[in-house]
Amino acid sequence: LDLAHYCVFGNPIHHSKSPLIHAMFAKQTAQSMDYQANLVPLDGFAASVQQFMNAGGKGANVTVPFKLEAYALSDQLSARAAMAGAVNTLTFSDGAIVGDNTDGIGLVCDITKNAATPIRGRRVLLLGAGGAARGALLPLLEEQPASLMIANRTLSKALDLVQLAVSSDGSKCQIEAKTWEQLDSSFDLIINATSASLQSEVPPIPASVFASPCLAYDMMYADTQTSFNRYAQQYGAATRDGLGMLIEQAAEAFFIWRGIRPDTKPVFDYFRSKEGA
Ligand code: NDP
Repeated sequence: LDLAHYCVFGNPIHHSKSPLIHAMFAKQTAQSMDYQANLVPLDGFAASVQQFMNAGGKGANVTVPFKLEAYALSDQLSARAAMAGAVNTLTFSDGAIVGDNTDGIGLVCDITKNAATPIRGRRVLLLGAGGAARGALLPLLEEQPASLMIANRTLSKALDLVQLAVSSDGSKCQIEAKTWEQLDSSFDLIINATSASLQSEVPPIPASVFASPCLAYDMMYADTQTSFNRYAQQYGAATRDGLGMLIEQAAEAFFIWRGIRPDTKPVFDYFRSKEGA
């Protein structure tokens, strides 16, 4: 059987879990494919994609810092990639590059399915207004939350996301933007899409934002509890980090490429059990 080739483009890339995640999916579903990490020079993204396509590559994931370039390079875009303004999944079909973004659906799937927490009808607070927050917008709104508050250090960027969300949202849920200090109500679901946890910082949100019960979700994942999730636990919130999101976005990409949905649970359990070991 012909082996189908996939990869993940990034820089740096050596810590990427994606090759192992996809290898586990491929084994589980008996797909004849391989998936490599592809270290791309910072000025060489388009050339690397072309080279991989020419060599017969079928598709690729894209990670930091190339998601915007992948968006620009795509000949066709899914609705969610168009709204995200960023692409993390490429499919090569008859010489054309089809761009999708599976990060947001990965987040929603991890919250609603794996954490068994409904979003529909709930008050949602999204912290941050960068690429990850933007990518989450459409999949979150499709779940029809009661309201969506976007809070960011730089208010203007949160306002931009509100504009974007309002213009594309058919559900007519209440969508607003605030700075941390202006937050004066409570939320059932709080998603941290800032990169503050990378510096062990916590966005300075008031304790009153945590409803009871509340799920606090940090898109970042780490071997130990993230600083945001430690903070949220002090106020009684249940917490979850972004490992599930990472695995679910990979499963969605795998489905796009192979037409089969892998079982994510054994993969999640494997990575969680390896941590701290
Ligand atoms: P961006 O650089 O695009 O955006 C960063 C955001 O964080 C901005 O809103 C910025 O605010 C805010 N921010 C940065 N530092 C601080 C701070 N010290 N205090 C408060 N706010 C801060 O990053 P991304 O959107 O690409 O990524 C955000 C996070 O999401 C990262 O931790 C990343 O690892 C994670 N992620 C996880 C994925 C997964 O699969 N689990 C997938 C994608 C991302 P301002 O606008 O004011 O600068």
